[in-house]
Amino acid sequence: MIPMVDLKTQYQNLREEIEAGLEQAFIGGRFILGPNVKAFEEEVAAYVGVAHGVGVASGTDALHLALLAAGVSAGDEVITTPFTFIATAEAICYVGARPVFVDIDEKTFNIDTEQVAAAVTPATRAILPVHLFGQAADMAALEVIAARHNLSIIEDCAQSFGADTADNRKTGSLGLAGCFSFFPSKNLGCYGDGGLITTSSERVAEHLRVLRDHGSWQRYHHSELGFNSRLDELQAVILRVKLKYIDQYNAERRRVAQRYGEALAELPDCILPYQEPHGTHVYHQYTLLSPHRDEIRAALAAQEIASAIYYPIPLHRQAVFERAYQETHLPISERVASQCLSLPIFPEMSDLQVDRVAAIIRSTLLGK
Ligand SMILES: *Cc1c(COP(=O)(O)O)cnc(C)c1O
Repeated sequence: MIPMVDLKTQYQNLREEIEAGLEQAFIGGRFILGPNVKAFEEEVAAYVGVAHGVGVASGTDALHLALLAAGVSAGDEVITTPFTFIATAEAICYVGARPVFVDIDEKTFNIDTEQVAAAVTPATRAILPVHLFGQAADMAALEVIAARHNLSIIEDCAQSFGADTADNRKTGSLGLAGCFSFFPSKNLGCYGDGGLITTSSERVAEHLRVLRDHGSWQRYHHSELGFNSRLDELQAVILRVKLKYIDQYNAERRRVAQRYGEALAELPDCILPYQEPHGTHVYHQYTLLSPHRDEIRAALAAQEIASAIYYPIPLHRQAVFERAYQETHLPISERVASQCLSLPIFPEMSDLQVDRVAAIIRSTLLGK
């Protein structure tokens, strides 16, 4: 059996460190916004290269609170990609704004920056790019557009912990805010829900700390309507252990991706993921395109090998949004959604496992 991610093996490797850290936290008895959350916030801020990190309850909350702190509100438009997890657009709707979906680049699957420029209206307040599958969006181009029209950039970094842009800046350090998720299967994942916002702005960081804690700047003094959205102290313990290994984990993901790339090169009806020549891809997913993806998926399943479709339906065609976007046609997103297939990729994946997956895909496509 080969899963999409192997959290059990990773836990066995980290067990002693995690259990020792948890025991200390239990003994310390500070479970809400305790010392590990504070230390983890500082460690992530230093890693990403920004002044502030603010831990929250999930990646979705990170996006929601970041949009609030950026002042995005009812009547505003936020330009984003339809080829992402629903949370990206949900967060825009939570603040009363309207997601404006533009198409993706067919090579990287990231937001097409020329279409972003064309979609700006007087109501546009922000751009919300996603660094999809662990590869940075074209931030240099987005920064030019944002500067020209005075827009905020909120980065969705849920899949890109550790990734660098083409000009070697860490994702999460570029926009007004970088929004991370620590959902268990992400590159840096905890054992439950968790999220964090990075920002260089003191004002935004302070506002986020108030928003995540019931609108409270001082205990029992509430300046605005806030939320209960804090990164859990025990999750922070686990994340601090894993943060030490994140560069190693991401390098192992690149090893797996490279081996897939060699084993699957030049197959008919199979487009392998495009890797930008500059920057650092962290391969949250290894996603190929094939018109025969359902046959590949069935052949893998027959050998007990997992695969997944991220994402089968672009957001403007989801039932929740469909009626509002009947006039929106985004042909590249729609085609990619109909052909994409993500293969197992995780740091602990052995070369032998990669070769087994690749061999089945080769025989499926060559046997046609
Ligand atoms: C996982 C994910 C989120 C949401 O994160 P949660 O921690 O599950 O709330 C948001 N955007 C993208 C692109 C994601 O992959």
